[in-house]
Amino acid sequence: MEIISSCSQIQQTCMQARQSGRTLALVPTMGYFHDGHLSLMRWAREYCDMLVVSLFVNPAQFGPGEDYQRYPQDLDNDVHAAMEEGVDILFTPARSSLYPDGFSTWVEVQGLSGKLCGLTRPEHFRGVTTVVCKLFNLTCPHKAVFGQKDWQQLIIIKKMTRDLNMPVEIVGRPTVREDDGLAMSSRNAYLDQELRKVAPRVYQGLLMVRGRFESGQDDRLELELELRSYYQRNLPQAEIDYVQIVDSNNLEPQDRVKPGALAAVALKLGQARLIDNILLD
Ligand code: AMP
Repeated sequence: MEIISSCSQIQQTCMQARQSGRTLALVPTMGYFHDGHLSLMRWAREYCDMLVVSLFVNPAQFGPGEDYQRYPQDLDNDVHAAMEEGVDILFTPARSSLYPDGFSTWVEVQGLSGKLCGLTRPEHFRGVTTVVCKLFNLTCPHKAVFGQKDWQQLIIIKKMTRDLNMPVEIVGRPTVREDDGLAMSSRNAYLDQELRKVAPRVYQGLLMVRGRFESGQDDRLELELELRSYYQRNLPQAEIDYVQIVDSNNLEPQDRVKPGALAAVALKLGQARLIDNILLD
């Protein structure tokens, strides 16, 4: 595995590989790998001739007072794990090479970026789409793989590639969970022992609401209320950011919930802001 930090070197290497007929896949990450990240790499490894994983804690997607400064990192472990997964190139750019002095160009998917997580993190998705666009320009992948845990991010990136005619296919892969149902996340490292014990209730609430939908309840406001009060009763330690049931394609609320809708939640549990979602079908 090659570790490349230079933008010009990664661009040259990837363009040459693409021109010589090799298929390229990119898995963008912020590092501190867990099985969720590794599942994306495994899928991509099967598909492509050259697998590039980027590791960059992107300052542009953190708001003031968020966890940019203390985001967990373990480069040695990540290098080892990426090698085990057969990654060809680990791209580890420095902040100053992606955002040099004077940087002033932003890519923003309007509309979708202001919903759900965008309500309390107004500049988050602008930071995500800008860095992902830059990563696509640097690595020219045929496919790029993202996790469905970050459902909103996934559909925003799909929309960006459609709107801007980017020659890359976006692949979404299922959420990988701990044995007790907690969605894997680098931010789970912020949970202390007590909070870690109750954190699976985030997903249990989503399973509960899916069960209610399956047994015939399709009133969105009622389902949202039931989920909210589930968390108030079973996870009183959590501060609820949002509990929403929306159309999974455009994140718009539906009065009558239809199969294929998405129940999505964000809760603050101690220092960790946890997000999770489930499709209702
Ligand atoms: P992150 O390093 O948190 O920015 O995540 C990098 C990629 O891994 C994103 O596409 C995430 O959606 C994906 N990802 C994060 N957690 C999971 C998970 N539990 N299961 C599947 N994919 C995940």
